[in-house]
Amino acid sequence: MHLGRFPLLLIDSHAHLDSERYAEDREAMLRRAFEAGVGAILAIGIGEGPAEMHQALGICRQFNGQPDMPQLYASAGIYPHNTPEADEAALAKLDRLLAEPEVIACGEIGLDYYHEGAPHAVQLEILGRQLEIAATRKRPILIHCRPKDGEPEGIPGAWDDLFVILEERWRPTGLGGVMHCFSGTWEQAQRSLDLGFLLSFAGNLTFPKAQPMRDVAARLPLDRILVETDAPYLTPVPLRGKRNESAFMINTARTLAELLKVTEEEIASATTKNFQRLFRLRADVGN
Ligand SMILES: [Zn+2]
Repeated sequence: MHLGRFPLLLIDSHAHLDSERYAEDREAMLRRAFEAGVGAILAIGIGEGPAEMHQALGICRQFNGQPDMPQLYASAGIYPHNTPEADEAALAKLDRLLAEPEVIACGEIGLDYYHEGAPHAVQLEILGRQLEIAATRKRPILIHCRPKDGEPEGIPGAWDDLFVILEERWRPTGLGGVMHCFSGTWEQAQRSLDLGFLLSFAGNLTFPKAQPMRDVAARLPLDRILVETDAPYLTPVPLRGKRNESAFMINTARTLAELLKVTEEEIASATTKNFQRLFRLRADVGN
């Protein structure tokens, strides 16, 4: 496994392109992604909070249309631990951003019970408000769901709470979405598929301890998966320890191809088609 050019167009379905960590070399980093075969990137618009929600769209507009660059799309959303900052002005800003043509998704939104931070009730309330806005703007959602480590049996955890709200308030929209950086159980994978979601895998799929995640991925249908970096986080093996960037995603895509016993060409074309289908994009994306 090394860096090189991937045989076909790949789409990075989740990257924090507005991260400070790209302040010095963002343009060069995007060119390296294109060189590696990444034809499109979905830039996540959460910033460090609602005040920075527009930054991903700004990056799209800065670089789109330049030659030898991936096609950029943006999302906008309020991250679970930023929900205490989600006042009416922040929600109105989200609504305005989702009306922009480049902003194809609402996210990443969801529930995070792993880190101490926003109270669960606030996370749930603001997730609900964001679902309403995304439904009105007809934008699929990008879900972040992180349970507490060693969640006790019998007490509803992050996934339980998430499925309750999505079943009730998202399934009826028929818009679907992405379980970003999926690392749940087989049962959680099945429930996500049943809700019409795609499951997206990040660089942690390549980590030595991630065998349970690989076992789940290996059982998934090819037409329901995506690949992402979550850059600058979760750098895949063998580059682990470095700042992550979209060019490195080819390592994750290769791992996914091995797990599903398909060729690199098949993983590239399937994940690209899945992305285009969910977001109703034209098939010439990235050209
Ligand atoms: Zn993310």
